[in-house]
Amino acid sequence: MKLSKYYFLITLLLLPYGTSWASGKLELQQVTGNVYAIVGELGNRSPENLGNNATFGFVVTSAGVVLIDSGGTYRGAQEIEQMIKQVTDQPVVRVINTGGQDHRWLGNGYFKQRGAGIIASENAVVDQQQRTQDQFIGLSNLVGKEGVQGTEAVYADQSFVTELVFTLGDTRFEIRHSGQAHTPGDSYVWLPQEKTMFTGDIVYIERMPGVGAQSNSKSWIGAFEAMAAYQPEHLVPGHGKATTLAHARKDTYDYLVFLRSAVAEFMDSGGDMSDIGSLDQSSYHYLLNHETLAGRNAQQVFTEMEWE
Ligand SMILES: [Zn+2]
Repeated sequence: MKLSKYYFLITLLLLPYGTSWASGKLELQQVTGNVYAIVGELGNRSPENLGNNATFGFVVTSAGVVLIDSGGTYRGAQEIEQMIKQVTDQPVVRVINTGGQDHRWLGNGYFKQRGAGIIASENAVVDQQQRTQDQFIGLSNLVGKEGVQGTEAVYADQSFVTELVFTLGDTRFEIRHSGQAHTPGDSYVWLPQEKTMFTGDIVYIERMPGVGAQSNSKSWIGAFEAMAAYQPEHLVPGHGKATTLAHARKDTYDYLVFLRSAVAEFMDSGGDMSDIGSLDQSSYHYLLNHETLAGRNAQQVFTEMEWE
């Protein structure tokens, strides 16, 4: 791990969408102007990625940097800061947590120590509080004691129910929580001048969305629609590279709609929960992690629909 600091590999790649530099486990992608995505691995948390198995974002304003999601651990937050330092010397002055999943907020402590204010929806804070212990147990298992070192549960200083708008320097930020999606407090961040949307865990690109006990597939579809109504020109997902709204629709929205209708059909034909794993999801096998997630997703949606 320590060696990788010196083995600093910077590759300049011209990708179909923006310019990106890769360093260690994170990849920096310029989205537009002063807006960047920091793209983490699509697989699970590991000692190497320090819990940063997600996409983060930042905006360089004339009054400091706004970071969207602080990373999965204290040391993970440090690596995010290193990526930011590749483009600006300005400090991170605000951190927005787009949800309650560990990689959205467990780096808060690092940035708060350096003077940043933390913002999250009230539902996200409640979710973070309720799952803190489970998330620490999960991280200890997957990232290891050394990787988790320094990480503390630090919650938002400023929270909101459905909407928070602020302007920092020359940039306007609109944060909205439109209902439970992957987690109960998922929000998206809209930059009207840049026509850019940070979706948090409402959008997964190139990997299968995870519908878990903390999710609601029905209102997730609704939250996606509310986000998509802004017609963003640039979209930074919660997982995967910055891309287009059409791509987000294909990999996340269409999958959720498909999954719900397939499960509904299965239930209508008298299918039993114990056989739900046999549901044909092969049209989405192009999404990474489908082997581990497809069956679990179907089971979760079945459970949800029994109560709808
Ligand atoms: Zn996530």
